[in-house]
Amino acid sequence: MENKFKFYNTLTRNIDTVIPNVEGKIAMYTCGPTVYHFAHIGNLRSYIMEDVLEKSLRYVGYDVKRVMNITDVGHLSSDADTGEDKMLKGAKRENKTVMEIAQFYTDAFFSDCEKLNIKRPDVVEPATNCIPEFIHMVQVLLDKGFAYEAGGNVYFDTSKLEDYYVFSSAVEKEQLLEGVRADVDVDDNKKNSNDFVLWFTKSKFEDQALKWDSPWGVGYPGWHIECSCISMKHLGEYMDIHCGGVDNIFPHHTNEIAQSESFTGHKWCNHWFHVNHLNDQSGKMSKSKGDFLTVSLIESKGYNPLVYRMFCLQSHYRKPLVFSYEALDNMLAAYNKLAKKVAELKKEGEIDTTAFRTYKEKFEDALCNDLNTSMAITVLYDVVKADTNDATKLALIEDFDKVLSLNLYEEGKKLLETPANAGVDAELEAFVLAKIEERATAKKAKDFATADAIRDELLAKGVAIKDTREGVKWELV
Ligand code: AMP
Ligand code: ZN
Repeated sequence: MENKFKFYNTLTRNIDTVIPNVEGKIAMYTCGPTVYHFAHIGNLRSYIMEDVLEKSLRYVGYDVKRVMNITDVGHLSSDADTGEDKMLKGAKRENKTVMEIAQFYTDAFFSDCEKLNIKRPDVVEPATNCIPEFIHMVQVLLDKGFAYEAGGNVYFDTSKLEDYYVFSSAVEKEQLLEGVRADVDVDDNKKNSNDFVLWFTKSKFEDQALKWDSPWGVGYPGWHIECSCISMKHLGEYMDIHCGGVDNIFPHHTNEIAQSESFTGHKWCNHWFHVNHLNDQSGKMSKSKGDFLTVSLIESKGYNPLVYRMFCLQSHYRKPLVFSYEALDNMLAAYNKLAKKVAELKKEGEIDTTAFRTYKEKFEDALCNDLNTSMAITVLYDVVKADTNDATKLALIEDFDKVLSLNLYEEGKKLLETPANAGVDAELEAFVLAKIEERATAKKAKDFATADAIRDELLAKGVAIKDTREGVKWELV
């Protein structure tokens, strides 16, 4: 098959065409969640965009195998092996065991994914399932001279590599080589400031719950080793696409490459896909901040989670995205309007194959061009307005939904079947009715400026009013 799918490859700093190692097949790996708390909607932005990437690759014809780990051990609060153990922190917070926490938040993560129409990867593997594989890789790295034991721990020796900082520009490399940041704990066992732990035995966490026997004593793995081992366990020594959020680039993905390529002796993964962050108005969203935005929270405020999915798709994955309820309200109005229009289409007529092909090509081009999802949605809007019959439109919308997964037809049907104002809170309803009264009085007095201003005021709150023979009707838009 022709390779025409392109995206920005963090490794080459170019928009590269994806050339898989085996023709027609894509081996894809995603860094999974650390299951010590709910995922926030920032984490889920990354998983939504990775889901769209996977579905786009399938859409253009690749046979994709996607693997994801679940981090249930080894991730400390700083990605550079310092700070608290995240899983232990979660267990203490809730007075449960680490494994109970891991199970609960793994289930919660997949339940959020389901609500957002994120497909479950073909393989999902918790890190604690793969301890023998980790030990084997660490042993090989020691045998090959890429790792050393110090103070009871095993470290990767970054000075053994010609180019450790593979993702960095020359200027960034210089800054990184300048050494340790003043605000980071210094681990005296490390030979080089960016060496990282492969296996901890001298845990600074006396109450470390999960420990395993190893050739270097009882302990637990470092965080980075899990992705190298889990991916190789299921995808072999060559991978086509590796994804994560931009915060994973350094040190996590840099360390994964260091370990994997030292272990195999060859290049590991050619294409690196990174999703930029979702920020709230005060900055980057983070689980450690305590109060954070979850899918359940936005759902409890009455938003269909798919509105959040559309919010993410309307923005390019490489740009930072700022979340606000105002922006989500605008997206809700756009989603409902579009869904209703789609649901009003009739399943009648013959599909016009020329029109079908034309729009499908445009949609595919948008995806193949650095995953331009907002352009793909524009093509969807163009289809709704197109000069072709409903059957063709519906067939295209159904086809596009293999990638977009917005359920527009089904959700639109539900919206059309629900009385316009069902579920509206009583306060808003009272406000709207009072405004309608006020407008009627203004109209009677021929004060049309006030009447129009009231209509606009309501519209700004997401309420549209319509004068009908049966009186004034209103609905949320
Ligand atoms: P974690 O559960 O912390 O290991 O993170 C899970 C995924 O979410 C990783 O791929 C992170 O890079 C990504 N991530 C973390 N914070 C954000 C954010 N604010 N916006 C988008 N992705 C994020
Ligand atoms: Zn990873």
